[in-house]
Amino acid sequence: MTRTTQSHANAVTTLIASATGFYQRGWMLGTGGNLSVALRDDPVVFLVTASGRPKGKLGPADFVEVDAAGAALSPDAPKPSDETLIHAALYRQTNAGAVYHVHQISAALCSTLDEAQGFVELTDIEMLKGIGVPARAVARIPIVDNDPDIPALAREIERVMNPEVPAVLIRRHGVYTWGPTADDAHRHIEILDYLFEYRCRLAQLGR
Ligand SMILES: [Zn+2]
Repeated sequence: MTRTTQSHANAVTTLIASATGFYQRGWMLGTGGNLSVALRDDPVVFLVTASGRPKGKLGPADFVEVDAAGAALSPDAPKPSDETLIHAALYRQTNAGAVYHVHQISAALCSTLDEAQGFVELTDIEMLKGIGVPARAVARIPIVDNDPDIPALAREIERVMNPEVPAVLIRRHGVYTWGPTADDAHRHIEILDYLFEYRCRLAQLGR
């Protein structure tokens, strides 16, 4: 199956729309988080947010085209996101058309709540269907340590990721997801927030 790709111009529009929506929901405050969309396949080229740009006011100059190894294609390009290597790893492991990473408070809380067991387990929740998991199935979302060594963090995400459950939590930090298209990745971010909130509120209720 070939990877879904977008033109550079469409990818910029898509990523600004997603980032603006996520910012308004408090999921990409400040410069937090990073988003990418595939532009070409085999070898993959993707467009990723530049490092250190405020996610509530991104413009067309705030994105960088990078190769399969996460290196900028143009020497004049701004510096890609610090976490670009994680995007490269997820494109390598999946047929994703987009990889999204946000700093949801629900994700940070859930990864704290379940840090000892190393995964968040969710089952019998209707909204699981929104990330492609049958509602009655048991979905385990892995939690990796928040390693400041990004190449090591990328290797760890690559090791623990489950293609059937498109999410990996970084402990006390945020979540990565991916999908066949940017619309899928965007939906996954919304649904994951619901699922993490559900998990946290259930714990508050002592369940
Ligand atoms: Zn982050």
